[in-house]
Amino acid sequence: MRFSHVYVEEKARNYPLTDEILKKTGDAVVIPVEHYKDIFDRPRQDRQAQKKAPALILAVREGSRIFRGAPVCQSFGQRNFYYSSSVMNCLFDCEYCYLKGMYPSSNIVVFVNFEDYENDVSKLLAEGPLYVCASYDTDLIALNGLTGLADRWTELAQKHKDLLVELRTKAAPKQLKNVPNVIYAFTVSPDEIATRYEKNVPSADDRLDAAARAVDAGCNVRLCFDPMILTDNWRDVYGKFADHVASKIDFARLTDVSVGCFRISKEYLSSMRKSMRNSEIAWYPYVIRNGVAQYEEDTDRQMQEFMRGLLARHIAEEKIFTWNRKPR
Ligand code: SF4
Repeated sequence: MRFSHVYVEEKARNYPLTDEILKKTGDAVVIPVEHYKDIFDRPRQDRQAQKKAPALILAVREGSRIFRGAPVCQSFGQRNFYYSSSVMNCLFDCEYCYLKGMYPSSNIVVFVNFEDYENDVSKLLAEGPLYVCASYDTDLIALNGLTGLADRWTELAQKHKDLLVELRTKAAPKQLKNVPNVIYAFTVSPDEIATRYEKNVPSADDRLDAAARAVDAGCNVRLCFDPMILTDNWRDVYGKFADHVASKIDFARLTDVSVGCFRISKEYLSSMRKSMRNSEIAWYPYVIRNGVAQYEEDTDRQMQEFMRGLLARHIAEEKIFTWNRKPR
């Protein structure tokens, strides 16, 4: 992707990653700023317009860098579940993306002080094994050509055997490194959903092919059927999709699969609605349960159980993780 403007925070200027990234941004206009929030947190930004041509912001992440997993996220049975954001925002443009409600801006912030993330991980590892979802609030694999940060997390995992890293993506990388304690989590969607709600994202089949290549290379691969999106004919759409995926990927070689319906915190939903006046996803009449906007309880249960049933034909039940649902 080409950026027309790159904002560089004062503190970020002397980091090697800043230089590496600036070499790749060609003739973009480089603008020094005192603090990244001076740009990113400005009030009344047009997030929808920015999404079409986001600026890049290079900054130093201070304060907390690694966080305890949130309740709307799946822990996959891991006890020390953390997530980390070394980038904020994403090259892709999914209509249902919670980032649209979470951040005041669609500009992309890359934190260039990865060494500090490495130190944070070392400190947490002193307390025991750690599971870190490193590609939350962004898609690190999609941005790896620019930032190299997916590679840096993979190298960190190679250094620490007690660290398990998940890299979640909608990209379709040609090749991925086989590292025993890295899980590549491919979010997959039926073509009907991808075409309608996932802009600038590789096609449903390209993503499945990438996941199949990673399986063939011996990598740990997780398939995420999450978020499932409600449509009039969802049974038909997801039923055919499960068969299609099984025709392309050997489920027996997957690490696990996850299933979840669309859900979002009520605050993020309200923020999304302000900037997405015509969005079917944002304006669906969700119910709020425990602060989370989600489909009506029966619908949510039926969709997750339907998908779970289809997947159970191909993979052991204990390898199927559903969000907030116990199988009946
Ligand atoms: S790929 Fe993920 S992070 Fe990126 S826009 Fe889509 S949902 Fe959001």
